[in-house]
Parts: sequence; C-alpha cells; structure tokens
Amino acid sequence: MAALFDLHCHSTVSDGLLTPPELVAHAAKRGVKVLALTDHDDLGGLQAASEAALEHGIQFVNGVEISVTWKRRTLHIVGLKVDIHNAPLKAALNKVRTGRDERAQEMGTDLTRIGIHGAYEGAKALAKQSIITRTHFARFLVDNGHAKDTKSVFKKYLVKGKPGFKEHEWMDLKSAVDLIKGAGGQAVIAHPGRYDLGTINMLLLMHEFRSLGGTAIEVVTGSHTPAQYQQFAKIAHKFSLKSSLGSDFHGSGISYMEMGCIPDLPEICVPVWDDWPEAKLLN
Ligand code: AMP
Ligand code: MN
Ligand code: MN
Ligand code: MN
Repeated sequence: MAALFDLHCHSTVSDGLLTPPELVAHAAKRGVKVLALTDHDDLGGLQAASEAALEHGIQFVNGVEISVTWKRRTLHIVGLKVDIHNAPLKAALNKVRTGRDERAQEMGTDLTRIGIHGAYEGAKALAKQSIITRTHFARFLVDNGHAKDTKSVFKKYLVKGKPGFKEHEWMDLKSAVDLIKGAGGQAVIAHPGRYDLGTINMLLLMHEFRSLGGTAIEVVTGSHTPAQYQQFAKIAHKFSLKSSLGSDFHGSGISYMEMGCIPDLPEICVPVWDDWPEAKLLN
C-alpha cells in the first residue's frame, strides 16, 4: 500500500518544477495525507504551501533540506517541523544561498573554458527567483543540446571530475543539526544510500549524527532500491534512530518517484512521526 506520508519534496523555491501551491494540489490529488515541503536551503515556500494544504484538506509539515559537507562529501540533512521564523536558521540559510550563487558563477566560468557559454546566465534565468542549483545547469545544458537528458548531463558535466563541477564547502553537520534543533525541528539524514561512503564511514556517520542529537534517517526514499529500504531499516534500528520516508519529488517525469506511490516503511521501523499529532489525526 502507498504511504500516506511524504516528507521530502521540492518546489520552484529550489529545484522543483511546481510552485508550492501547485505541489500541494498535486500531492493531495495523488492521495498524500501528510506532506512536508523540503526545498534546498530555503524556507521561502512554506507559508504558501501550508495555506494551500488547508484548502486541500491535507496536513502540512514545515521542512528544509540543508546541504552539508562531512568528510569532504556533500550530504543532505532534512529538517522537519522547523519554525520558519527562527532567526539563526534563516540567517544561516541566507549565507548558504549567497555561497550557492558564487559557486554557480564559478561553474559557469569553468564551462566557458570548454566552449559552453552563458551557462550561469542560462541557469540563473531558469532558476528565476529561486536558489541556483546544479539542476538548473542541467536543464540549461539539455535545452541547449549538450546532452540528451538530465541523467546523462550530470554524468558528463556536473559530477566530481567533470568540467561543470565545483567543490564547495557547505555547512558542517553539527551546525545543521544544531540549527534544526534550535528551530524546534527534527533532523533527518536524507537518502543515505546515495552517498558513496563505504561501510565504516556510513557507521561513523550514523554514530556521529545520533550523538549530535539527530532524530531519523530516510529509509524509504525515491532513490533507494527495495533492498536499501531493508538495509537502512536495519541501520536505523541498530542506532536507535527513527525512520522517515519521502519521494524526493521534483516534478513529474524528472523525479526518482512520483508522489503518492512510495511504499510504507518496513515493519521494524519507528516512524519519525510516531509522536506527531498529524499521525494521530489520521486514525
Ligand atoms: P546542488 O545542491 O546544486 O549540488 O544540486 C543538487 C541537486 O541536483 C539534487 O538535489 C538533485 O535534485 C540534483 N541531482 C544531483 N545529482 C543528480 C543526478 N545524478 N541526476 C539527476 N539529478 C541530480
Ligand atoms: Mn534537488
Ligand atoms: Mn537531496
Ligand atoms: Mn531532495
């Protein structure tokens, strides 16, 4: 059965294709009952999404997906139930967004060196008022015939070792967890199966995250395989972490998974929502 929760997705405030109200309408149509919007490094869509959720009769949870550097790798930490007016969180995300723009300009300059001109300006135009991400570069490069689709454009240009990739120092893990907790939220490691960590570092990450006061890991997410659902359910259990689930939806046709069809958490998981009023309202 499809899960009633979806605690990870993106709107036009970061690199999604739907505006926050459109996204909420889409989620409601697809049968989601409790939705968290988790734009990258930005809280800007949460107010509008929460108003739309009231109209559509679904429950809404404030969220954010924070970019973090841990052991020279990029990780994503989702914050659920954060206070959107929390000043330290807002200020820290502001700083991340400024860093994103500088990084994007450097990416554009590097692409110029291999004969691709106007990528920064093009990506910026696609991003409109939102933060600028590699997804926007991917769309620009595909639109201009440099690759056939998003998957191949990342492989060819936008990952480590390729001309459009720029090493970037994001926030550290402790800061992200502290900020989320300081804003009254719960910290969740997003899509742990996507990080090329190896067994030892994966266990070190879980241990450190737990010690810092992290709450949960995503067990079921659009980019995990069913085997990974089981693998991360066991890891969550071993470290006494709760489990979260979300589609990581960015738009129809460009996402790992559509909304409204992600499977439930495995039986052994303690859901991140086990003490949330939203869960009680569903019964
Ligand atoms: P950034 O935060 O600017 O580094 O951009 C990261 C975003 O790019 C992620 O949130 C995904 O939406 C997207 N992304 C990263 N890697 C891939 C990939 N291999 N294929 C498609 N999208 C990707
Ligand atoms: Mn994204
Ligand atoms: Mn992510
Ligand atoms: Mn995401």
